[in-house]
Amino acid sequence: MRLLLINPRLPESFWSFKWAVNSILPGKRAVNPPLGLATIAALTPETWEVVIVDENIETVPLAPNTDIVGIGGMGVQLSRQRELLAYYRARGHHVVVGGAAASLEPERYLGLADTVVAGEAEYTWPRFCRDIEAGHPQALYQETGTVDLATSPVPRFDLLDLSKYSSATLQYSRGCPFTCEFCDIIVMFGRKPRTKTSDQIRRELDSLRQLGARSVFFVDDNMIGHKRRAKALLQFLAHYQQNHRSPFSFGTEVSLDLAQDDELLALFRAAHFGWVFVGIESSDPNSLKETGKTQNLREDPLVAVRRIYSHGIDVLAGFIVGFDNDSPATFEQQRHFITEAGIQSAMVGLLAALPRTALHARMAREGRLRVSEDGFDNTSLRSNIVHPSIDDEQMVTLYRTLYRRLLSDQGISQRIRNKSRYLTDPVYGGGYHLGEGIGILGRLLLRGILPGGLSRIHHFLRSLFPFRPAVFPLVISDWIVGLSMRAFARDHLWYPAEDTPDENGILDQVQAAIGNHLRRDEMWVSQTTSFAAPELTITLGAGLSRWFFPKAARPLCRLLDRSRARLTLKAREMPEGYLPQFERLLSRLAGHGDRVFVELGGALRGRMTIDLSRFNVVLAPVPGEAGQ
Ligand code: SF4
Repeated sequence: MRLLLINPRLPESFWSFKWAVNSILPGKRAVNPPLGLATIAALTPETWEVVIVDENIETVPLAPNTDIVGIGGMGVQLSRQRELLAYYRARGHHVVVGGAAASLEPERYLGLADTVVAGEAEYTWPRFCRDIEAGHPQALYQETGTVDLATSPVPRFDLLDLSKYSSATLQYSRGCPFTCEFCDIIVMFGRKPRTKTSDQIRRELDSLRQLGARSVFFVDDNMIGHKRRAKALLQFLAHYQQNHRSPFSFGTEVSLDLAQDDELLALFRAAHFGWVFVGIESSDPNSLKETGKTQNLREDPLVAVRRIYSHGIDVLAGFIVGFDNDSPATFEQQRHFITEAGIQSAMVGLLAALPRTALHARMAREGRLRVSEDGFDNTSLRSNIVHPSIDDEQMVTLYRTLYRRLLSDQGISQRIRNKSRYLTDPVYGGGYHLGEGIGILGRLLLRGILPGGLSRIHHFLRSLFPFRPAVFPLVISDWIVGLSMRAFARDHLWYPAEDTPDENGILDQVQAAIGNHLRRDEMWVSQTTSFAAPELTITLGAGLSRWFFPKAARPLCRLLDRSRARLTLKAREMPEGYLPQFERLLSRLAGHGDRVFVELGGALRGRMTIDLSRFNVVLAPVPGEAGQ
């Protein structure tokens, strides 16, 4: 049996840190590898040939030599997951879907995939493997019991190219004891935390160490859900680090009650955890009460964050706006808190109701659910729930303003200074060799700080003082994070209004520069009156002039630079000699790849040598290609 496992392309988000990955970090393509697929691979019979393709770092194979295609993914990957399922199914492969979205709503997939694996896969996946080998796979494998994590195998890390990610991943526990109303974790994994043994973690770390990983993210949703066991694990990790001369820099997700346990905090430091991600959600106690996040009410969250800092551990945090209790004043209150707390990675989302959560049920009861939205992307500027007092337009304006102020040069710098006062002896030391560190600093200065002009240079310098060498790597890291989030916000939150005129005539310039090299009906612009988001489709047919590619690159780059244009390049067929020029054009456009759609005819598939994962590869089925 041959099995191809695919992690679908993730949409751009604050989490993708695309600017940092593309412009600053050497050789990286994405933040985290698909750990779930590596676990599935480890659960697959040894006699099977297994390949993992992560569409976020490599080209998805358009004509794979495989029997089964397995596609994972979270809610935000839903639309790409659907396209991949349809494409590979039309080609005659047996397609299996799993992951968070399929686990929450398996019924959504029954017509799209041949098999749905819903819930944790440790017991169901081996059953599917046995069934398909015997020739009678079922349509649905649903885990309804409790998986003992002690039976979970060491993931096949060897099938991932870890060098392409900024951090490797590992999972210690599943489940969380708390009852936040919006949370889907307790729906999927339950409220009784289950954990792996220290011996399992040792084997996983040994494997990651052999593969050269240095930064490891424990992807638990709450690593301290069972505090006694968490302490035992941290003691084990501290010994492991000592015995191997601290090979790893760790990070994880925890609940804010970590701050009230000094022993736990000391153990996190001893085990070399440089940062923790915490769901703070709101600094307004009434919003926290409304959503059932009572663990954050035990003390002032600002005091809690600063106590974590005092142990040398950085805090990344999630925030939510749009609770029923929230008013327009809440947005400024949130900004003020985030600034005071000095949290650079502050992920603020609009409250959204995920399927099967308590919030979803309440919104349905109250008739406040928007069925047209699924709620999976909470930074999409449109939630799937109706707020009782803030209308949509005002919500979006307030949200944009909040991020505009947070991500200003002054906002980034102020948070660094506020954090540095409390985080005096950070665990985080950069984790890079000297040469890599100098390279990163040089690129940050050249590509991030200097292009911001005198104002940014001024705020950058202010953030360095008082200068303390121990804090310097964190200052650099925070600028990279801040500027990355700003790049995303600029492209996705602050883009020009719909009716922005094309004052410089850039669309006309595109038309003039390339129109003559195409047949009349091969280029199409949907909106020439608005410059905000024109849709440009160019079909590269047989009659294409050879001068098209050199002429097209510059005006198309300018168009993508200065607007929210979406460009679709359809290449059905092409003389052999044109292919390198086409690839050169794509290389020039790669920086805007999230807005470039590439559709290839059957004759071109497999002939492209360029990394297409930087673009949106349109998976149009080619007639007559189905069947293997
Ligand atoms: S603390 Fe986090 S994981 Fe636990 S229920 Fe609340 S949101 Fe979910």
